[in-house]
Amino acid sequence: MSVVYLNGQFMPASEAKISPMDRGFLFGDGIYEVIPSYGGRCVGFTSHIKRLQQGLAALEIHCGLTEQDWQELVQQLMMQNGAGNLGIYLHVSRGTDTKRAHAYPKDISPTIFAYCFEIAEEPDANIDTAPRYKVITAPDLRWQRCHIKSTALLGNVMHHQQAAALGLNECILFDEHDFLTEGSSTNVFIVKDSVVVTPPLSHKILPGITRQLLLSILRQHSTLKVEERPVSKNEVLAADEVWLTSSSKEVAAVIEVNGHAIGNAKPGAVWLQAQQLFGQYKYNY
Ligand code: PMP
Repeated sequence: MSVVYLNGQFMPASEAKISPMDRGFLFGDGIYEVIPSYGGRCVGFTSHIKRLQQGLAALEIHCGLTEQDWQELVQQLMMQNGAGNLGIYLHVSRGTDTKRAHAYPKDISPTIFAYCFEIAEEPDANIDTAPRYKVITAPDLRWQRCHIKSTALLGNVMHHQQAAALGLNECILFDEHDFLTEGSSTNVFIVKDSVVVTPPLSHKILPGITRQLLLSILRQHSTLKVEERPVSKNEVLAADEVWLTSSSKEVAAVIEVNGHAIGNAKPGAVWLQAQQLFGQYKYNY
């Protein structure tokens, strides 16, 4: 993908330059979003922009772009990059200072960057062809503000690497009381006796847009019982199904946790229903 947006201008990626004094580079002092789009249609656009605005407000970064401004920026970016199946990455850092000092500097303008990357076709609700995820578990060693979609992702990166080093797909995390938080880059759901359960929103997890869409879709378009409540590690290990949700994966079936099979080691019947409904209704929200 060749055309990117940086601070008000579209340009070839090779011409986009920022200063090493940018606080995004020095401190990870910024907020980001990733929005999936298929043939020019974004999934959950308004929710993604709302989460971006909330993150910026939490960091007291004033970037001045309204949802409408973001909409125009993203439309332009998609058009300039062929509007196929694209992940749209938005990134706002606090901006470039003259020195490295922790306190928020006054009078600097944020750095606003956006680019797109190709993504796969829309995930298919098909038990035989859907990806099958194998995961490990680990104590959640990240910070206490996981609800903020900060560009400072080292905690997540290190957890993800724990899984990657073993050739596995994801590391799902548990708090100090062995309750489920989320994955290193996904939210987590379990299914037991056809009840769909996911941890409630808190500072311990990212308020995933796929999580939010899936909860709304299941509540409005299925008869499944859906619960947001704490989930213990034992419940995860004994679940009939475990799912990971994210913008790129939609609803992804986990078939193995710590080497133990989940269900019959295939995407389950409730997963099939959930991914089918997600595919059907995801543009309605
Ligand atoms: N949790 C974490 C830590 C994430 O990084 C992500 C995004 N990749 C998610 C959950 C899923 O969020 P979304 O559904 O908005 O992509």
